Amino acid sequence: MTGLASLAADPVKPGFAPVIDKTTAKPILRERGQREVFCGLTSIIWLHRKMQDAFFLVVGSRTCAHLVQSAAGVMIFAEPRFGTAILTDRDLAGLTDASDELDRICVTLLERRPDITTLFLVGSCPSEVIKLDLGKAAERLNARLFPKVRVLNYSGSGIETTFTQGEDNALKSMVPALPVTDDKQLLIVGCLPDIVEDQFKRQLEQLGIGPVCFFPSRRGNQLPAVGPNTQILAAQPYNGETIRALIARGANLLAAPYPFGAAGTTAWLAAAATQWGVNPAHFRQVTQALEERALKGISKHREQLRGKRLFFMPDSQLEIPLARFLQNELGVELIEVGTPYLDRQMVAAELPLLPPGVLISEGQHLDKQLDRLREAKPDLTVCGLGLANPLEGEGFVTKWSIELVFTPIHGYDQAADLAEVFARPINRRELLSA
Ligand code: SF4
Repeated sequence: MTGLASLAADPVKPGFAPVIDKTTAKPILRERGQREVFCGLTSIIWLHRKMQDAFFLVVGSRTCAHLVQSAAGVMIFAEPRFGTAILTDRDLAGLTDASDELDRICVTLLERRPDITTLFLVGSCPSEVIKLDLGKAAERLNARLFPKVRVLNYSGSGIETTFTQGEDNALKSMVPALPVTDDKQLLIVGCLPDIVEDQFKRQLEQLGIGPVCFFPSRRGNQLPAVGPNTQILAAQPYNGETIRALIARGANLLAAPYPFGAAGTTAWLAAAATQWGVNPAHFRQVTQALEERALKGISKHREQLRGKRLFFMPDSQLEIPLARFLQNELGVELIEVGTPYLDRQMVAAELPLLPPGVLISEGQHLDKQLDRLREAKPDLTVCGLGLANPLEGEGFVTKWSIELVFTPIHGYDQAADLAEVFARPINRRELLSA
């Protein structure tokens, strides 16, 4: 029985009162309460790999330092491009001293690392940090260091951000620094592994779409330009604030589903092809073989996943596009699709592709959601690391959602790998219980 069916049987169950959304006609449950999500500092792990000459200086406590170091692993052979300026109670005594100390750390760091062209001051949640004005610190340091180094600031605080919102905040902080252009161009927004970026670039070139730029760029001195003839394709659904900042600079967001799976990738490329007036026959010629190969790769996992009942806990904001892929291309049955925030602009082309009755929940009240999960007994639960172990202990099969931001999952060539991410834990459990 799906969550929706149990709602119909018991419409007054406390805390389980979805409303039918007027625009999408989908049941949407809004919840607020305790939540279990990593903070925005976590995104530094993939951001620092992407932006090869950027340094992320977390202004935080020892907890922040532990989080970033243990999540990223301690680098022994290379100097890392992230670090933590730790503030203690003593620093609280004099904020002027704390500001001076921060400036001193930044200058020393940049003297030691002349390869750094962008320095991000990343805020966190301890009260010591909240009192420091990192915007002013960035201004001060820019006055001293620009143009050799650009200093930017954003918040990765757990009070304000989830781990994917950390990327959104980092990219948004860069938007004012982007140069202006009037040229027609395609701007792909959201961190992608280099290999995926290269594949998309090749496919778009074959379609005759371009010039193509990526944001963020691999190097700080190659920032893309933006202007009224910039067409945006979003690669990640969680960069809504960045996209709106780019729209405010004149760019236009192309409505498209995300490039997950064969159909998702074709639809994503088609949005740009329509804008560039690509001949439909040429579009098919370029995409057909790629799509067929992706479908063949996915089919290996369809047998295993078809009819499996899946529950998404709200975590990465990737849930809605991934649920669409799993339902439409692998025949998975969706029990509940939780998302930390429902950014309607960013999922406008995805929502209509979900089946009519699927329950979407926005936000989280952990206990209530766990009650629903236990009652529904899904075959697979996609959730954060903090929930996976206890749920495994209760006998549930889980998948860590954070793996989805580290694994190349976009585009035709990764469609089979994406399906495998979900098939693997089910497969393992079936083997163990055989
Ligand atoms: Fe630091 Fe707050 Fe993240 Fe904890 S939740 S690691 S204190 S920013």
